[in-house]
Amino acid sequence: MITREDIRELAQFQSNGDKNCALSFYFEPATPQNKSHRAETILVKELVRNAAREAEKIGRNGYARADLDRILALAENLHGNQARAKAVFACGARNFWREFDLPAQLPVTQLFVNQRFHLKPLAVLLGAQPRLWVALVDRQKARFFELRLDELNEREGLFRTPPARQGRSDGFAGYDGGHAQRRVNDDVLHHFKDVAGHLQNALEKGFFEKLIIGCHDTPWHELESLLHPYVRKRLLGRFSADVGKMTNDHIREQAGQVLHEALDRRRHELVKEVLDQAKSNSRGVTGLRRVLRSLELGEVQTLLIGENFSHAAVECTGCGHLDGHLVRHCPACGRETREVADVCDTIIPVAIRRDIELFYVKDDPEFDSAGNIAALLRFRADQSKGNVSSAVS
Ligand SMILES: [Zn+2]
Repeated sequence: MITREDIRELAQFQSNGDKNCALSFYFEPATPQNKSHRAETILVKELVRNAAREAEKIGRNGYARADLDRILALAENLHGNQARAKAVFACGARNFWREFDLPAQLPVTQLFVNQRFHLKPLAVLLGAQPRLWVALVDRQKARFFELRLDELNEREGLFRTPPARQGRSDGFAGYDGGHAQRRVNDDVLHHFKDVAGHLQNALEKGFFEKLIIGCHDTPWHELESLLHPYVRKRLLGRFSADVGKMTNDHIREQAGQVLHEALDRRRHELVKEVLDQAKSNSRGVTGLRRVLRSLELGEVQTLLIGENFSHAAVECTGCGHLDGHLVRHCPACGRETREVADVCDTIIPVAIRRDIELFYVKDDPEFDSAGNIAALLRFRADQSKGNVSSAVS
């Protein structure tokens, strides 16, 4: 599975020199009722042919050919391993080839030829995915999992053996019964305190950013009050769970749903916030020109891009300045510019390299009419005037 470091490496990659070319291949397996494997192969052949033509147009065919042949061979061999999607990033001239398995959630099979890798499908899939833990908890057990995309890995667990059941000889039920019950309650309390401590510790060590808990209602009320406020802040949601019996598939499904809903909520809140902030001329900007400027000034905290947003731009060959106006010479340093077919191909790697939170916005008319691209800012350089810290908080 692809790691953050992998994505960072891809985002840093730029084929320097005119003869290089970066290929990005995304393979989404067809569902059997949809398409046969043969039809799939034909599609990939077609994509490879088009890519070769494209590479030829920009005089790089010689360098791309071997990579394209390798992609074709790979696609032909994908038969039988079709549960997962695949992404390949290649640049033969730089001896670069990376292959990744992905969850089968890509929109389509695609192949891109460019100077940089085309990372949008990856960014859509991974952009907003936090480092996530799932904790299943009941009154005696706790199991901890890492969930990354659709990969669930069980980590350590906490298990408390229930106190030995005491027989009838234990004396008069009135007193001793209550005593035994108190011991059970004490034990449960200890267990929940251990769980809370464990989570706090894991958060402090950076093992997770967000948390989902699987727990029934009654124990949850007891556990919730014991969680450290910082841990509670990271909680995305909860589902009901039988700690001992729940299968991995079921955990993945339940947690996936909680995550999905949380991301939708967050996206919704962010869109509202960024539009409000932009209207009041505060910590938000809308439209490509303003967003590019804020990116250059290092102000951006969260970037929101309409799912269908695409815009031509130019990039300075000297200082890297990006401009939404197709000017021949850089307004910042005067050097020559080169055209970028879609500015997102340049913005997304920047966002990944700088750890800017990235969200794609779908079907939002208000966002669309505000330019379909927006950014929430950490501060505004023109308003802070040496007083940045107060704006950051
Ligand atoms: Zn420049």
